[in-house]
Amino acid sequence: RARHGHTRHMRYETGQDEQHQRRLALARDLGTAVEQDQLTMVYQPKILAASGEVMGFEALMRWRHPGFGFVPPDEFIALAEQSGRITQLTQWMLRTVCRQIDLWAQQGEVVSVAVNLSAHDVMDITLPERIHLLLQDYQLGPERLRLEVTESALIQDPALAQANLIALRKAGLHIAVDDYGTGYSSLSQLKRLPVQELKIDKSFILKLDHDSEDRIIVRSTIELAHSLGLSVVAEGVETDASQALLLAMGCDVLQGYLISRPLPSDQVIDWMTQYRK
Ligand code: C2E
Ligand code: CA
Ligand code: CA
Ligand code: CA
Repeated sequence: RARHGHTRHMRYETGQDEQHQRRLALARDLGTAVEQDQLTMVYQPKILAASGEVMGFEALMRWRHPGFGFVPPDEFIALAEQSGRITQLTQWMLRTVCRQIDLWAQQGEVVSVAVNLSAHDVMDITLPERIHLLLQDYQLGPERLRLEVTESALIQDPALAQANLIALRKAGLHIAVDDYGTGYSSLSQLKRLPVQELKIDKSFILKLDHDSEDRIIVRSTIELAHSLGLSVVAEGVETDASQALLLAMGCDVLQGYLISRPLPSDQVIDWMTQYRK
């Protein structure tokens, strides 16, 4: 019995050690991921719930590691934040997205793209100027680039985040609260920040069609957000039933696998052409 327990303990430690090794390797290799062209951006459509019209895309980062293969962004973004690499990744991401918006415009498609910012980015006082310079470089109006900031990033240091967000808002950028409902903030707290949109986290949307509690939460969130003048996006829309419920609840914008998975940049124009038929 003692031996058995010992073995189990060893296995547990081995598992933890592998995790630790992986994290160390990933954190180290993040340093060269940009220059070695291992990162790409994919683009997921968002549609207006009422008309079905495409309202824009969300840009999501992908990392193909030479040894580990595809690494999910939930894993490597956190590592990038801890190791101080996030500023470099975000700068690469912003430039890649701005260039892509410009490339699509040259092909006759005027689209707006939302990007995800980490907590670290939002509190970086150089962020508004860096965004301003990129928009200038690619001759893009501020309505072409939208920002998504997680609820938890916003409440980490609201005063610091607020100064940046006010500057970005003044410059004409549209700001959304991401992962809403997971961060224990109140809408009255968020309302003091210059945000225009609330993105309800997919954990409330995925089971909407068979979970009555989720329906109550989502319905009242939409009502409250609307009464505060915020528009509402639902992410994680996977079924027709969820789409119909969200439409009936007055949700403004829908995003999810039902509409489309995130797409490589070279499939976006084809997707739009097909979708409009
Ligand atoms: P997020 O911003 O909440 O993005 C939504 C996530 O849900 C994405 O996962 C997306 O692919 C996934 N998703 C979209 N529709 C559906 C659906 O219908 N069902 C399900 N089950 N999932 C759906 P992804 O791409 O793995 O990204 C995970 C998170 O990583 C993002 O969550 C975001 O917080 C972060 N992230 C991704 N790209 C970036 C980036 O460029 N910068 C930063 N700072 N964070 C990023
Ligand atoms: Ca997002
Ligand atoms: Ca989310
Ligand atoms: Ca998230």
